[in-house]
Amino acid sequence: MSSRSASPALRLPSIDSLLRHPACQPLTERYGREALLASLRQLLDDLREPVISGQLEAIEITPEILAGRAGERLAQQHRSHVRRVFNLTGTVLHTNLGRALLPQEAIDAVLMAARHPLNLEFDLHSGKRGDRDDLIEGLIRELTGAEAVTVVNNNAAAVLLTLNSLGARKEGIISRGELIEIGGAFRIPDIMARAGVKLHEVGTTNRTHAKDYEAAIGPRSGLVMRVHASNYNIQGFTTSVPTAELAELAHKHDLPLLEDLGSGSLLDLTRWGLPAEPTVRQALLDGADIVTFSGDKLLGGPQAGLIVGRKDLIAKIKKNPLKRALRVDKLTLVALEAVLGLYRDPDRLAERLPSLRLLTRPRADILAQAVRLQPSLAKVMGDGWSVSALPALGMIGSGSQPVARLPSAALCLRPEVSKRLRGRRLLELEAAFRQLDIPVLGRLDDDALWLDLRQLDDEPAWLAQLDQLQVPG
Ligand SMILES: *Cc1c(COP(=O)(O)O)cnc(C)c1O
Repeated sequence: MSSRSASPALRLPSIDSLLRHPACQPLTERYGREALLASLRQLLDDLREPVISGQLEAIEITPEILAGRAGERLAQQHRSHVRRVFNLTGTVLHTNLGRALLPQEAIDAVLMAARHPLNLEFDLHSGKRGDRDDLIEGLIRELTGAEAVTVVNNNAAAVLLTLNSLGARKEGIISRGELIEIGGAFRIPDIMARAGVKLHEVGTTNRTHAKDYEAAIGPRSGLVMRVHASNYNIQGFTTSVPTAELAELAHKHDLPLLEDLGSGSLLDLTRWGLPAEPTVRQALLDGADIVTFSGDKLLGGPQAGLIVGRKDLIAKIKKNPLKRALRVDKLTLVALEAVLGLYRDPDRLAERLPSLRLLTRPRADILAQAVRLQPSLAKVMGDGWSVSALPALGMIGSGSQPVARLPSAALCLRPEVSKRLRGRRLLELEAAFRQLDIPVLGRLDDDALWLDLRQLDDEPAWLAQLDQLQVPG
């Protein structure tokens, strides 16, 4: 009878011979022997069945072919799940795409902190234990006028920690018009509940008056809260109580006023032609006792939550054991310090801070870029698509100024097919752009795919991969 050695599958190269084969040497060097071995084993296992059944000739399966296949598999497996993308959505501070891009100064600081020990919680002056918040306290005081600061992981954490520290087991008074949900299931009423603060809502969705707050204040009150309704806009018959008036009211009853600015800005953005956003300094001047805001929204820094304001209240917040659980890491802190440092020179800020540079890029500049790139893209897209350089409207993003639109420009791609087929064709094109080495993310709107070029900095890289695009149709 035929012995096992006659089995065609055994005519496949052996693992040992493969591992020694020159074609596999570069793979061993790159991925290590273990990974290569596992990959080859799997390959041979997958081939055994088709060879035994005669679907494949073992002879044709050379070590070179196997090494090539193993190389592909290994490259696939070792590919990072974190991928750089082109954000051509038109939304600058895109939460799902990592929000603000860091300036070189912050990148340098992160590299330093990643590589070397540093005085994170060590006072070099006294030689004693220090506090990580001290590293940015001077800058924050200078830039906002606040007495003190503490930094946590993000603004959601800042709100949670502040509420819990100042209002636990008491009532938090807030207008019904400010009971908002921010993306990612962050809802003010839920956060209040988790912070142990009893929600006392006042007024109505569109109108809340000083007397509504006044009537709510009583022996169980712990704080008054104001939330900047960043991601929606109430228009028409509306009233809200300005911070200054609300602060006066709260202070009359010895209650702290907490203001969650969300994005918050350190400088008046209208100076760069952007929509007005409340500044942290103004909120404090108006009498807010604590102001919270994000590090990676309009500030243009790393993900962080800043809590600034009265020294005694900040001290209380820092004593909360939750602070330890929500504290910021060293890479974030050094990046934040570097970004804040740039604010000392507002005249050059728009050049040096990427988010501000991108937000203030003039439409004429973006449109000129679109016109310049249109022929290259049109060539790749072929006959089935119309490609035009058009004015477009972008957004700041991250809930800042939801109604404001940034005048921008885009490459607009329209399938030249019947209306019935258009939707599918566009989804296929969108997917094809996502398959590129550096995935390109645009925006579907009005039966077209829009690639807003406001954030296309690296034109050569973008152009270089265009010929890989699998154009549908
Ligand atoms: C964005 C935002 C938050 C949450 O900030 P993160 O930094 O995303 O945690 C909280 N409050 C308001 C008003 C916001 O706009």
